[in-house]
Amino acid sequence: MIIGIDDTDSNEGMCTTYLGAVLLEELQIYGIVETLPFLVRLNPTIPYKTRGNAAIALKLKTNCPEKAIAYILSRIEELAHMDCEKTNPGAVFILEKEYENLKLVLNNFLTDAIVDVIEIQKAKNIISKYGIHSKGFKNGRGLIGALAACGAMLNPEEMDYTFEYLAYRRKEKYGTPRKVYKESFFEADRETYPKTWDTVDLTNKLVVCIPHSFDPVLFGIRGENPEIVTKAAGIIRSESVKRFAVYRTNQGTDMHLLPATNIAEIRNMHSYKLEGTVSAAPNTIHGGHVIFPLRDGSGEEIDCAAFEPTKNFRAIVRRLMSGDRVILSGSVSSGTLNIEKMEIKYLVPFYAEENPKCPNCGKHMKSAGQGQGLRCKKCRIRTPSKIRYEVKRDVEVGLYEVPPCARRHLAKPLIREKRSETRVYPSR
Ligand SMILES: [Zn+2]
Repeated sequence: MIIGIDDTDSNEGMCTTYLGAVLLEELQIYGIVETLPFLVRLNPTIPYKTRGNAAIALKLKTNCPEKAIAYILSRIEELAHMDCEKTNPGAVFILEKEYENLKLVLNNFLTDAIVDVIEIQKAKNIISKYGIHSKGFKNGRGLIGALAACGAMLNPEEMDYTFEYLAYRRKEKYGTPRKVYKESFFEADRETYPKTWDTVDLTNKLVVCIPHSFDPVLFGIRGENPEIVTKAAGIIRSESVKRFAVYRTNQGTDMHLLPATNIAEIRNMHSYKLEGTVSAAPNTIHGGHVIFPLRDGSGEEIDCAAFEPTKNFRAIVRRLMSGDRVILSGSVSSGTLNIEKMEIKYLVPFYAEENPKCPNCGKHMKSAGQGQGLRCKKCRIRTPSKIRYEVKRDVEVGLYEVPPCARRHLAKPLIREKRSETRVYPSR
């Protein structure tokens, strides 16, 4: 049986991945938990999401699915923060005999839930059409993520995925400052990077894998396989860990990006990979955000932004000039593309002018007056104009990304890029 759960978290101390970790332990009385659980991040631009827009799926081999289902629903009722307005849990149960029939339909649903904006009704329609066992609490919005997470568990071979080791706090510590030895996170990074990422941000000297919120997560280590995230977690020194879980996840895969062939097709609340030409020099506005217009082949334009939280990435963006050709990845809201990654394909040549030197004495010649050309006063030599010469641009062609402290969950870090023909500048 596959169990999908979503939207049990609140801003005050619950998190769907934690409920998953609890169930991993408790469900052993009903059978055997097979394979690692799945943590699925959905469309990052959805405004009504709780915190991270994460849903989970577990796989349980059991002879008594009815009992397991009743138990899971009772635990959701106990542990989810039902009184929180934004918490609308959903649970979906798929029996083994239904796997084949639902594989494709739920794989498509998963993709839609990540790249698109889905109404609850669409999830409810699939549930009723296929007679899927499910339970939506309150407005049932969690059914969307629960169904999508089942789609991932049914189709791991269809998708790219990474891993996250999540360590959870003791309950009595919730809401108190997390006691962690920061240096141990830098040590874990040194030992396991680039197979792990986003543990720390070296440029900005930050530990980035610790949430600031009230929730039960103490820290999360992201990486390429279960062994390496477990190794990194073992290096970390902190307050005692109540429990942990290693999730398979679509984090760090770029699964949210749609290829856009032109700007006219771009819609708010979607994420794209878009190629175009910088049509004016980037402008730094109030608050430190850097914005420039990008133009496509049809002449259509869209504002693209490196917002203040992207820190040092803005320095690269500021060096762009009108005429540069780039491929941008990012989410669109309020008509602005929020840049996550940028490939600079072509840099326009930049020219400067200078006064030529006098061929006789070697000193720079000076203007002889409006429209009079240049001259060396001493040697009485004249020349009609300044010399134009190409200046090396202060940025290179290649792939750039926002620093770890600004990374979206779904954005694929450049260290995961396997491209030999392009220069890659990973941020760490
Ligand atoms: Zn001279």
